[in-house]
Parts: sequence; C-alpha cells; structure tokens
Amino acid sequence: MPDRDSLRRFLFEHLDARGEIVHLDAVWRTVLERRDYPPAVRQVLGEATAAAALLSAAIQFDGLMTLQIQASGPLRLVVVQVTPERTLRALARWDGEPATGPLRELCGDGALILNLDSGQGREPYQGVVSLRGERLAEALEDYFERSEQLPTRIQLTADAQAAAGLLLQRLPDAGLASQEDWNRLSLLTATLRPQELLELDAAALLRRLFHEEDVRLFKPAAFGYRCTCSRERTAAMLYALGETELRETAAKQDTLEVDCEFCGQRYAFDAIDLSGLLAGAASDASITRH
Ligand SMILES: [Zn+2]
Repeated sequence: MPDRDSLRRFLFEHLDARGEIVHLDAVWRTVLERRDYPPAVRQVLGEATAAAALLSAAIQFDGLMTLQIQASGPLRLVVVQVTPERTLRALARWDGEPATGPLRELCGDGALILNLDSGQGREPYQGVVSLRGERLAEALEDYFERSEQLPTRIQLTADAQAAAGLLLQRLPDAGLASQEDWNRLSLLTATLRPQELLELDAAALLRRLFHEEDVRLFKPAAFGYRCTCSRERTAAMLYALGETELRETAAKQDTLEVDCEFCGQRYAFDAIDLSGLLAGAASDASITRH
C-alpha cells in the first residue's frame, strides 16, 4: 500500500543525490470533484499536481508556490498552488474534448511558469521556460536544466484515484567523479513504470529502483487540500476591477455572485456590499461586517 497523501524525502548515503516521492489520494480526488475533467486533461492536471508537491519540497521555499502551464490549447491553462503548510489546490481550463496525446499536441505552444511568492510585500520570483517535451515530466526536467542548471529526473503519473511522482536530483555541489553515479541513478529511475508509482509504497519503490544503494528514507510529511480563497480576497479582486466596471455590474443585478474557480465556493455581494466597495472606503473589514 502506498503512503497516502504524503511526501517522503530520501537521500543516498554515499552518492551526491537526493529525492522526493509523493502520493496524493484524497487530495487529488478533491481536486477532481470540482469539475468534470476529460481524461486527457485529468492526466496532465494530476501529473502537474504531483509535480508541484515534489517541487515545493525540492525547492524548499517558504511561501506560496504556483506551477502553471499557459498554452495556446486545446489545454489552455493548468494551475497548481502549494502553501508552505503543504496544502494545495489545482485547476485546468481547456477547449472542447481534447484527445490524449503528447503534451505539445494537447497544449500547442506554451510556457511552463514557476512562481514563488514569499508574501511580505516582496516581488515574487518567476521562472519561465517554453514548454518542451512529450510529457510534463520532460518539460520539468528541461526547466531545471535550463533555469537552475540542476540535473533532475522526474516521473509522474495520475489516474482517477491517485496522482503520484518521484523526483531525483543531483546535489548542487556534486563533483565530476559522481557523474557516473548520477548516470546510473538516472537510468534506474527511467525504468519506473506508472503502475509501480501508483501501487508501491515509498520503501518498496526505492528497493525496486535502487536495491544496491544505501538509501535513507525520511518520515512521511502529510499533504492536504485547501483552497485559499476568501470573501475578503474576492472583495479585493472586485475592488481591483475599478469603479466603472463595478458600477456597471452593480446596475445590472441586485446581487453579484462570484464563484471560486478552484473550489466552487460562491461569494455573493448585494447592493449594500457593492456600494460599500464603490464608496472606496471599502476596506476589507467593512465588507465582511455586513
Ligand atoms: Zn476557493
């Protein structure tokens, strides 16, 4: 049985490499409950969700991490957000009924974007590379190669029940002598089959891949689903639309309803809320007090 909804770090005792294994179950099914995703879209969204969880651990960044695919379509957008508390939310936008196929057929021209927002009023870091490769894992390996110069191997998979992934990374200060070790670990990682990733627990996976190596496996860290939307944030978003737009919308309907695209939560703003927003004095507090 795989470790449910958790991430496990591992490292090689005598080699300059480390990695992460993630298995998302209830978290992934919660993402799927929000929308009826066609199989081809579900596949990429699941792989992206597992990847974002892996990346959040590999990058060790203390802030909001957003992994995005922006593309010309039919799969137009994939967004996965991970918080430092190891909660995530995810969504995809697409046109029509995309057929399962290589990533570049599904997405057309696109970009892979990694956004790291530490909050605290600082500008977020953004890494952007053009979308390459047949699969998302390849595109991400390419991202690490080009933007971080850090050799990385990634395996990802998803079905209707679970999304899972494995990331193997060479240590930044690895010497030339370890190139051979890295090549060997890379080749072994490439032999992993999607079904094994879904069915085996982390210890069994590592035994299966690296039984001749001395591998230390750390305790599982739990992952959960959480949407970070709120009434205050929705109000702030409406406020940012600007006075004209808000006045026009308010004139057309008694109540303005905004649905969160991630979790489906509906936020309703009535005439009094809207006039509060329009008054400009609309601090977030004055809206929630109503
Ligand atoms: Zn939400």
